[in-house]
Amino acid sequence: MTHALPTLPYAMDALAPYISEETLQFHYGKHHQTYVDNLNKLVPGTEYENMSLEEIIRTAPKWGVFNNAAQIWNHTFYFDSLAPATIPTLSEEFLTRIVEKWGNIESFQTAFNDVALKTFGSGWAWLVKRADGSLDIISTSNAETPLTDSSVTPLLTCDVWEHAYYIDYRNARAKYLENYWHVVNWAKVEERYNG
Ligand code: MN
Repeated sequence: MTHALPTLPYAMDALAPYISEETLQFHYGKHHQTYVDNLNKLVPGTEYENMSLEEIIRTAPKWGVFNNAAQIWNHTFYFDSLAPATIPTLSEEFLTRIVEKWGNIESFQTAFNDVALKTFGSGWAWLVKRADGSLDIISTSNAETPLTDSSVTPLLTCDVWEHAYYIDYRNARAKYLENYWHVVNWAKVEERYNG
């Protein structure tokens, strides 16, 4: 099967000024597209040819095919985790889950940013749901993805590869993380939690 670049669920300038149109032109239009193109070059004639993206990620050894498949999945999940800035509204149940783990939203965001900031080199920070319904924050390196860990359900991610923020923030990952919260799609996070 041929893998396609998913449609971005908002306009290229919709996340500005927190994430600029130019960043999305490169991050979505070039980086994400390249992972799709690479995977489509790598899989024909292999055992992965007829597998879904998720099946490839759960099957392939961690190089080449895996890296490109996982990066497609991670980026689709990341872009779907974002939305034009709105006032976040959280359900009582979801807010309770955050409060029981971190005390309040601000402390959760600080803990998440801390994990994102300490992710060495390229990688991802994730809010995940554990089997008992509790929340946790984890970090993955390079193309690694929580999709391969059946004990967690990913709810939210932040891409901390430099290509995600270098155009807007240069080396200031902390500033990118601070502004990231303006464009988090909380409705999507909750939908994944309830999923
Ligand atoms: Mn990226």
